[in-house]
Amino acid sequence: MGCSFWTFFYLSSVSASAITSMLKLVFYCQKCSELVSKGIKSIRFVESTRLIRHPYRSKAHRIVYFDDLGKRRVKFFDDPGGLGSQIAAEICVCPKCAHELMAERDSVKIE
Ligand SMILES: [Zn+2]
Repeated sequence: MGCSFWTFFYLSSVSASAITSMLKLVFYCQKCSELVSKGIKSIRFVESTRLIRHPYRSKAHRIVYFDDLGKRRVKFFDDPGGLGSQIAAEICVCPKCAHELMAERDSVKIE
């Protein structure tokens, strides 16, 4: 074949929407900037997290159950809130880079 993607697009009768759907199947790795071939899944790598304090929420959780007579009942519970973590930065990488990043993260010792 030997023709570039855009030459193929220009000369063929493939519609623009078909090209767009073809492009959705591949992605650029955000670490090595290489175009990852079709069929390889992207991996979302969490770069950093932050601590967040969740507020107390009254009647936030709902549980539906059936009593002894088979009647549908609904109960509400309060959410106590508290301290938790939240994703601050995330990148979309290829499996090779994800493996490297995880190895890097595991080698870092917290002193
Ligand atoms: Zn990569």
